[in-house]
Amino acid sequence: MSDCLFCKIIAGEIPSLKVYEDDYVLAFLDINPVKAGHTLVVPKNHAADVSQSSNEDLAQVMGVVRKIAPKIQETVGGDGFNLMTNVGEAAGQSVFHTHFHIIPRFKDDGLPMWPHDGATDEERVALAEKIKENL
Ligand code: AMP
Ligand code: ZN
Repeated sequence: MSDCLFCKIIAGEIPSLKVYEDDYVLAFLDINPVKAGHTLVVPKNHAADVSQSSNEDLAQVMGVVRKIAPKIQETVGGDGFNLMTNVGEAAGQSVFHTHFHIIPRFKDDGLPMWPHDGATDEERVALAEKIKENL
């Protein structure tokens, strides 16, 4: 039996509040929502994070995100939504099964935006070159 929490949810061994399911994808409400309607969308095939999932699984997941995210927003009366995925502990990942967060947003909802580290033009040019070389 898998030790993975989301694999257990997919298998029905742990209860969840499912909002969408098909052969490849499951979407369920986050147990500790940032905002009402906070939903997790996961591929049924296990992979630790988005860098490990197959293109096919990610395409299935994105198809579902596009279908359900606007409807979730509409249901909770939101003005927009954040779509995000965390990769690695440093980025805040706590469950190591690929998942995307759909977080409904409301005008002036008080959630902080990203702070900006800033960089000089020279630093950015050098970094773009370095990244391209590493691909
Ligand atoms: P992350 O920190 O990006 O790995 O996101 C993991 C998310 O899973 C968090 O937002 C948790 O609140 C959520 N979570 C943990 N356990 C459960 C559960 N049993 N059912 C639904 N969501 C969960
Ligand atoms: Zn899993």
